[in-house]
Amino acid sequence: MAANRVTNFEVCAHCGSEFERGVRYPVVTVRTEDGGPLFYSFCDDDCKAAWLESRTDE
Ligand SMILES: [Zn+2]
Repeated sequence: MAANRVTNFEVCAHCGSEFERGVRYPVVTVRTEDGGPLFYSFCDDDCKAAWLESRTDE
């Protein structure tokens, strides 16, 4: 659960796969309590879904 606030559009936020230039990937916007939005990008919708599921622990 390390809080890394650096957003990175070069690798998938879930599996770490490198992105290719010029390809449009799914992005999730998360609003933090202390202000600005955070952006996460994913190599595909499966990673996006898995990531969303993993951070929803209610
Ligand atoms: Zn991925």
